[in-house]
Amino acid sequence: MARTVHIIGAGLAGLSAAVELTLRGETVVVHEATTFAGGRCRSYHDSTLGMTIDNGNHLVLSGNHAALHYLQLLGAQDRLVGPPKSEFPFFDLASREQWTLRINDGRFPWWIFKSNMRVPGTHAFDYLPLTRLLWAEHDRAVGEVVRFTGPLYERLMRPLLLAALNIEPSAGSAALAGAVIRETIATGGQACRPLIARDGLGTALVEPALALLKERNSPVRLGHQLHRLRAADARVESLDFGSDSIALADDDAVILAVPPYTASALIPGLETPTEFRAIVNAHFRIEPAPYQPPILGLVNSTTEWVFAFPGRVATTISAGDRLLDTPRDALARTIWSEVATATGLPPELPPWQIVRERRATFAATPEQDALRPGPNTRFTNLFLAGDWTKTGLPATIESAIRSGRRAADLVAPH
Ligand SMILES: Cc1cc2nc3c(=O)[nH]c(=O)nc-3n(C[C@H](O)[C@H](O)[C@H](O)COP(=O)(O)OP(=O)(O)OC[C@H]3O[C@@H](n4cnc5c(N)ncnc54)[C@H](O)[C@@H]3O)c2cc1C
Repeated sequence: MARTVHIIGAGLAGLSAAVELTLRGETVVVHEATTFAGGRCRSYHDSTLGMTIDNGNHLVLSGNHAALHYLQLLGAQDRLVGPPKSEFPFFDLASREQWTLRINDGRFPWWIFKSNMRVPGTHAFDYLPLTRLLWAEHDRAVGEVVRFTGPLYERLMRPLLLAALNIEPSAGSAALAGAVIRETIATGGQACRPLIARDGLGTALVEPALALLKERNSPVRLGHQLHRLRAADARVESLDFGSDSIALADDDAVILAVPPYTASALIPGLETPTEFRAIVNAHFRIEPAPYQPPILGLVNSTTEWVFAFPGRVATTISAGDRLLDTPRDALARTIWSEVATATGLPPELPPWQIVRERRATFAATPEQDALRPGPNTRFTNLFLAGDWTKTGLPATIESAIRSGRRAADLVAPH
């Protein structure tokens, strides 16, 4: 009988492992604790707004090659959309200035020499210190490697690194910041095109994977939470789901693609990140303004990014822990007044929803980054996946999908 690969967790890491292995002809079963797939990257029907929304706005960049490969496997490349060029419109709430950052294709950064492409108020030589992040040591924080002050920091590096690392950039890992810069800005505009799931994260990243798994007879068992891994010597012998358990055959394998706090509870002694940062999203049921860009960056504001979707305007605030106790209606009002100012939409508050994800990502400090384990465990048939495993990237869709593919490669090299 063919061996079975059990994948625990149907977030993007688990789904990417499942898709890879299914396409390589493996027998795969996915076990998911909740009643939905997608984990931290999902769509759901919101009864307050009466529409389907995402748990949070997710931005992918065209340089996120594992994410794009995953979409290709699913035949869903067209479900992430973005402009043909790398363009980022910004609005400064304090000065009311607007500008568009334009990063040219190709490795040579012509854009920093052109005042109509770079950040207003900066000079080409201001960008030089960025290169120090490309070779930063793993134990350094961004603030220890470069001292960003002034317009380049406020108008580009802070928004970029805050979004990518989900932590106040000065405290963030310089190595993780370097990896982001290396794979995006330093590669050129072709790697920085912003891509969003215009019709929702579920439609783009989750449903096509579930459809493929179904078509290939790889079951996804929802509401099937792993309670315990029973192991003997160097092997996991059975999976205990509470109401039932599965005994593993000699060549069966398990990929544990759950959040770090669950992985460390299931594998005693496993070191994982222990600190987290929140992301706060607001959703407003209103048609975007006629010329509103799909993504607008705000600076000198509480709101950081404004996304335009059909019938909905949504905003993101990273490292939003300071806002977890703010009353929801006060937060909605503050955010909406900023959005209305930046977009020209009417100041009256439309129907709204606030979604606060407390443990959106692990805290991307050098100390927490050092706690990330690789994919191998002390058990020969158990592998780890998840955005928090040691991928060299901050906790992102790209990190999650890469980790799933890496675990799949260890189980069944292709
Ligand atoms: C609000 C928000 C905004 C974000 N914005 C961006 C962005 O703009 N760009 C970007 O690239 N990334 C973004 N991210 C990060 C991105 O969503 C994550 O990196 C990615 O979804 C993590 O996937 P994962 O599979 O590693 O983990 P998860 O999605 O956490 O998946 C783990 C799965 O395991 C399941 N599980 C847990 N315990 C068990 C158990 N015992 N048995 C069975 N199943 C179990 C969980 O229910 C879950 O489905 C954002 C995250 C949030 C929350």
